[in-house]
Amino acid sequence: MIKNINIKTKSRSEFVDITSDISKILDESGVQSGLCYLYVPHTTAGITINEGADPSVARDIQFTLSRLVPHQNNYAHLEGNSDAHIKSSLVGVSKSVLIEGGKLFLGTWQSIFFCEFDGPRHRRVAVRSAGDPA
Ligand code: ZN
Repeated sequence: MIKNINIKTKSRSEFVDITSDISKILDESGVQSGLCYLYVPHTTAGITINEGADPSVARDIQFTLSRLVPHQNNYAHLEGNSDAHIKSSLVGVSKSVLIEGGKLFLGTWQSIFFCEFDGPRHRRVAVRSAGDPA
C-alpha cells in the first residue's frame, strides 16, 4: 500500500529531512528485507539523499543549484518558476532505498531530503515498502 508524507514548506527553497517519517512508515509496514520506493508527485520539487548531520551541506547544495540555475534567465515558461522545474529534473523525483533488518539501509551520515524549489507549498511524498516480512 502507498503511504503519503505530507509536508508544508516554509520558504521558496528548502530541504526537509524526511528520514524519520519514512522510517516510521517502514516500521508500520512490517517489511524486514526489500526495497523502499519514494516518489515526489510534483514538477517543482525533488528528493535527494545526502549528509544530514551538518545542515551546511543541504544549504551548500541549494546555493550551488541556484547558481547553476538562476531564478530569472529569459525562460520561455511564463509562470516564473522555470528554475524550479529545471532543479526538479536535475535532482529527480524518486529514490529507492534498500531495507535490511527492518531498517532503511543508509550510511551513517546519510539522510533523505524532500527538496522544495518553489515554495512555500503543501507537498507530499509517496512511500511504498515492498519485500519480505521476515
Ligand atoms: Zn511552472
